[in-house]
Amino acid sequence: SSKRAGGSNHCFYSPAMDADAEAQFDLLRDLRKALANNELELFYQPKMDATSGKVTAVEALLRWKHPTRGTLLPGVFVPIAERSGLIGAIGNWVIEDACRQSRAWRDKGLRMRVAINLSAHQMRQDDIVERITGALEHYRIHPSLITCEITESAAMEDTKMTQATFRRLGELGVHLSIDDFGTGYSSLAYLRKLPAEELKIDRSFIMDLEHSADARAVVDAVTKLAHALGLKVVAEGVENQRQQQILESMHIDELQGFLFAKPMSGRALLLWAMNDRSESAVFKPSLFSETRS
Ligand code: C2E
Ligand code: MG
Ligand code: MG
Ligand code: MG
Repeated sequence: SSKRAGGSNHCFYSPAMDADAEAQFDLLRDLRKALANNELELFYQPKMDATSGKVTAVEALLRWKHPTRGTLLPGVFVPIAERSGLIGAIGNWVIEDACRQSRAWRDKGLRMRVAINLSAHQMRQDDIVERITGALEHYRIHPSLITCEITESAAMEDTKMTQATFRRLGELGVHLSIDDFGTGYSSLAYLRKLPAEELKIDRSFIMDLEHSADARAVVDAVTKLAHALGLKVVAEGVENQRQQQILESMHIDELQGFLFAKPMSGRALLLWAMNDRSESAVFKPSLFSETRS
């Protein structure tokens, strides 16, 4: 982009770029310490069945409690982690912590499927399936209680490793979901060959639903085609009831978004599930009263 901005093929230099590079460098330095310093935390956002309103799973989303900059969202640091390869170690921690949380919920009476985001880098990691298997065994979690979300663009990477990981995850028995669907250039014919069972339509389409006939046409067509291929469809980023109505009229299977719940801590999720959504969880009065402050 520096070439474009400069209008020539020469790389140019500006104080702004320099400051930006320095900020990125600082962030990477801090991120290297974040794991050891316990600064990472997983938040959880429910996915709901569009018909029954029941929670089908929660998606684990990374948060970084930076020592001076407050809580940082993954958009700020996951790309840096990905470029530096640090996402390998962070991703291993995510797998471990999501399974730990699943077991902790289970021990408190909540049986909940957890969706974990896997990066393109992790799909090429040679021990990724062993990592997941190890965590499942350690915390005594059945594979069917885990979903792995892989972005469309990562899923399309035609490397032997990526495709082998896909196959092995399918064999392991975890659920597989194609995330941010519609932002890449995959053909559904190709996706059909993957052992995925779910497509998550990218938020950019959901945002435009109310005002754009094109967005409605895309979401409707993708949903019909996905259903014809036996795939479940999830809409991400549902923020209002109008969007919900449109999505329901298109027979989308599951909905996720601020309209239902924002991402929350593991402890908050437990209370939320036991409180507002008691029909889909085991109800434990002791827990319920403990925290009603
Ligand atoms: P994603 O997997 O597509 O996750 C959905 C994102 O949309 C989350 O952002 C979530 O907070 C946000 N979201 C959900 N509902 C709404 C809504 O109604 N309105 C709006 N405006 N946003 C909504 P978040 O947590 O900032 O994560 C961003 C991305 O970072 C994720 O996109 C995912 O690609 C990546 N990410 C998050 N956690 C991890 C992780 O543990 N590992 C990896 N590799 N990537 C992660
Ligand atoms: Mg996701
Ligand atoms: Mg997504
Ligand atoms: Mg997305």
